[in-house]
Amino acid sequence: MTKTNLKSLSLPELENFFLSIGEKKYRAKQLYKGIYNNRNTDFSEFTDFSKSLREALVEIAYLPTLKIVKHLQSIDGTHKVSLEVAEDKIIEAVWIPSDLGRKTICISSQVGCTLSCAFCATGTLDFKGNLKTWEILEQILILEKIVGDKCTNVVFMGMGEPMHNYKNVMDAAHILHDPETFNLGAKRITISTAGVIPSIERFIEEKQPYNFAISLNHPDKLLRKEIMGIDSKFPLDDLLATARKFTKTLGRKITFEYIMIPDVNMGEKNASLLVKIARSVNCKINLIPLNTEFNGWRRPTETEMIQFRDLLSPANVPIMNRRSPGKDIHGACGMLALNG
Ligand code: SAH
Repeated sequence: MTKTNLKSLSLPELENFFLSIGEKKYRAKQLYKGIYNNRNTDFSEFTDFSKSLREALVEIAYLPTLKIVKHLQSIDGTHKVSLEVAEDKIIEAVWIPSDLGRKTICISSQVGCTLSCAFCATGTLDFKGNLKTWEILEQILILEKIVGDKCTNVVFMGMGEPMHNYKNVMDAAHILHDPETFNLGAKRITISTAGVIPSIERFIEEKQPYNFAISLNHPDKLLRKEIMGIDSKFPLDDLLATARKFTKTLGRKITFEYIMIPDVNMGEKNASLLVKIARSVNCKINLIPLNTEFNGWRRPTETEMIQFRDLLSPANVPIMNRRSPGKDIHGACGMLALNG
């Protein structure tokens, strides 16, 4: 008999599983709690189950994990793990501590990515599929176990495009938010997209409570498509209209992520276009220095970054310089998939 992977079952499916073996439905919630709150890895640890149920589960079911194929620790406290989902399917996840006590985990939503943004290492990999909900969550369980601590924030900014794996990503977010499991506040969970408009529409319709970020990266509607192929399918003007709908319908800010690439999207002209956008959308802006060196591009200097930020001040919106630690282990933004 093939054993059932209990982590792969949704709550209703788990309830049916327990009913099918003559148990009560509430066992499903207990199992979820055991896995995602108590961090049990073995049926023997489910002490709210009877001994006979624990023994029966060993025979008919299992609780899988992902194999750690690499673990690197940076001098700045960042940890990166490479995890094997299946043969030849590797994903990465990163633990990012900050001085302010924030402990962020950056997780992947897909194996590789279909988008091929010109600045991002993940785009150079073959796309090998969507992650299942449990595989998304397992990244957090594994990193927390390695570090011996719990995270305060989760960002869906690792490999892949979360809005191309909508259902599994949202199911994972709900489990992260559930008070009986991870119990993370909705504002501590951030979902990021390169701009998949239909999925953003769905997020708005469903009134999802999570933080939402759009990787804007270029403010010029003619030039954005040169660095982000997705712009040919979902053009900037339409994306901004959707962002406005988001802020109006949900009554909260959207975050624009903006990679600074000298000679590509910085300078006065781009700054004034970005100011115009920021004035038309209730937003905040996260500035990220380029971390890769494709296309002969380079990282901006500190002075260039300060100058660009100053040029944005007329926008009168919150502007953050996003730290991007873990460069020495290729764990920083846009570096997942680089060897090391
Ligand atoms: N596909 C989604 C989720 C990945 S998020 C998205 O695009 O939003 C990855 C973040 O890292 C994005 O904000 C992206 O713009 C940024 N990024 C990608 N490559 C980078 C690089 N080389 N340097 C700095 N940031 C980068």
